[in-house]
Amino acid sequence: MLLDRPLRGVVGLRTAKVLAAQLDLHTVRDLLHHYPRRYVQRGELTDLAHLTVGEHVTVQAEVREVRVRSLSRRPGHLLEVTVTDGRDELLLKFFNQRWRQRELRPGVRGLFAGKVEQFKHRRELNHPDYQLFDGDDPVETFAGALIPIYPATATCSTWVLARSVRVALDLLDSTADPLLDPLPADVRARHHLVDLAAALHAVHRPASTADAARGRARLKWDEAFVLQVALAQRRAAAQALPATPRPARPGGLLAAFDARLPFPLTAGQREVGDLVAADLAGSHPMHRLLQGEVGSGKTVVALRAMLTVVDAGGQAALLAPTEVLAQQHARSVRALLGPLAAAGELGGAPIATRVALLTGSQSASARKTALDEVASGAAGVVIGTHALLHEGVEFHDLGLVVVDEQHRFGVEQRDALRAKASRPPHVLVMTATPIPRTVAMTVYGDLETATLTELPPDRSPVRTHVVPGANAAWVERMWGRIRDEVQAGHQAYVVCPRIGGADDAGVDHAGAEEETGEDPRGGPGEGPGGGRGRRAPLAVLDVLPDLVAGPLAGLRVAALHGRLPTEEKDEVVRAFAAGDVDVLVATTVVEVGVDVANATVMAVLDADRYGVSQLHQLRGRVGRGTAPGWCLLHTETPEGSPGWERLAAVGATGDGFALARIDLEQRREGDVLGAAQSGRRSSVKLLSLLRDEELIRAAREGASALVARDPELADHPALAAALAAAVDEERAGFLEKA
Ligand code: ADP
Ligand code: MG
Repeated sequence: MLLDRPLRGVVGLRTAKVLAAQLDLHTVRDLLHHYPRRYVQRGELTDLAHLTVGEHVTVQAEVREVRVRSLSRRPGHLLEVTVTDGRDELLLKFFNQRWRQRELRPGVRGLFAGKVEQFKHRRELNHPDYQLFDGDDPVETFAGALIPIYPATATCSTWVLARSVRVALDLLDSTADPLLDPLPADVRARHHLVDLAAALHAVHRPASTADAARGRARLKWDEAFVLQVALAQRRAAAQALPATPRPARPGGLLAAFDARLPFPLTAGQREVGDLVAADLAGSHPMHRLLQGEVGSGKTVVALRAMLTVVDAGGQAALLAPTEVLAQQHARSVRALLGPLAAAGELGGAPIATRVALLTGSQSASARKTALDEVASGAAGVVIGTHALLHEGVEFHDLGLVVVDEQHRFGVEQRDALRAKASRPPHVLVMTATPIPRTVAMTVYGDLETATLTELPPDRSPVRTHVVPGANAAWVERMWGRIRDEVQAGHQAYVVCPRIGGADDAGVDHAGAEEETGEDPRGGPGEGPGGGRGRRAPLAVLDVLPDLVAGPLAGLRVAALHGRLPTEEKDEVVRAFAAGDVDVLVATTVVEVGVDVANATVMAVLDADRYGVSQLHQLRGRVGRGTAPGWCLLHTETPEGSPGWERLAAVGATGDGFALARIDLEQRREGDVLGAAQSGRRSSVKLLSLLRDEELIRAAREGASALVARDPELADHPALAAALAAAVDEERAGFLEKA
């Protein structure tokens, strides 16, 4: 097919080499999907006042003046060409190229491309590339009044691209090989989309701005549709696998557990529970994403699913991202189960099972006991960090894998655990915080989703305030609030971005110091507020002595962070849970899972260093009981700054879905969709997770229907080809990010 033709036969060997080396463009398809970054109106000069030093620019300007100067210190000439937009000027410098005077005459207009440099308060381009508009004769490279400006590099200018694209488009027009359109005709008709050839023409050589927009709208569809077809195929493939059905059993552990629960399930928990139970009863593996508002009670939903599987004779594993969280889960699951988790012990219920905990740092004997229980099947419920994935961990009959706080796990880890089952296990993935719908449909798009939106009814809202660090009275009130809450018998958190101390390696990424690696959402310090040249973020070990000697004098204060030895961490969490510690000064290790209902106030220091979803998750640590909670976001960022506005947004809403959208706005799309960071080619260029929700939803619907009719794309060869082109390494990486 024409699109797969290598460029060297189309644009010539030399240009093809440049396109490959500079922009990673190898085929006609690559080239035609390298879209203009913007368009300039022919004759409309570029505003020269706003050029940024250091940037590679392409400007449309008019030559005003040309001078030749002899160099004073060495032989040779300097050609100085001043170009203008009618108001501001830019200097172009050429060494020993006097012959350029012949074409760079005053009054001539053209495009000039180069890196902006500054010399004695004047901005200049040294040896820029240029393309002149000769009189009324339009430069043949550019067809119409709108000149496309391509993402270019220093040695591959926008007009080299424009020329190459023109050759490719002409070939496309003249070829007998028709351009097969990957978008099925019915999809195009339903959504009023132009065909592929028309879209490519419109984007590269637009007759008007509206024309260009039509082209882009259509090409955006290609991106969404191809992606959704890939995801639909993955869903279909997963659904085709065999799994052991684990139907609910009346009168089993689950029923006994429900009878023991100290609270009624929320309607949402019951609904999602039924959905999951139906999945588990099926003979194909469940692949479901459970997302929900912070504090909505996802753990109970997961535990009920696990008990269903145990009732059906299987085992269930819960994979937690950090050791603190794994231990916390084990503790709370054992507490919730009570005698139901005490099989073989005095007081254990007759139908009881056991809960095994496996972490990287437990003692050899504890590990041996746990491994035996897992291998024999005595432990129906297995909780652990990624130590669960290690060799030597054998399950008797693994039926369900629950992945908690999925954003911290790579898919390889999920697959490694899956491989421990003789048949594909059911998989339930839980996200820590709500995620925008578009992220659910793309990054997690191979999973069915279920969402918990309501909180248990007895919760009091957490009141959130931004505390300006510069205002001593406010800061004093913050500490006063903590003292008051402790006075009233409650407990408090003080959260800092860093650990501090002698060998401080910097930011304490949530969980990064533990065995699961770094948090791909970006930890503190990477937020949009994190700029250069600011003081280091506050650190646990640095503020601790000041707090104990000052505002928190007389209170029982303890520190918790990732560098503590495991037993100590565990001991601190236990003491805090038991009420033996009033104030926990901690890094974001408390972000997930630490569940102490008596804690009613949290002060987050240098709060602007965190993303808004992370703050929302942190805030979820208080207000878990019935007493009202407080969240105090301390910051030195000035009022009205973007950092302050983000904190104000956290204060203004308790809606995690709304905050997730804000988070998305603050990150570059590429960070979410994978590729752009690396600067490599990505098949997702136009699609926006923020703006294209409706499109993504429609594409998903269309793709699912198509894959249901034609799973192998046998009747859609052009779509199959587009998919194959997209599923290169990087794309695989993107899909795997779930
Ligand atoms: P998250 O969804 O953020 O992971 P958790 O599962 O940690 O939330 O639950 C938060 C707290 O709410 C826990 O202490 C849990 O025991 C409690 N909880 C869960 N479901 C209910 C309910 N239906 N009613 C009251 N409390 C509940
Ligand atoms: Mg949780």
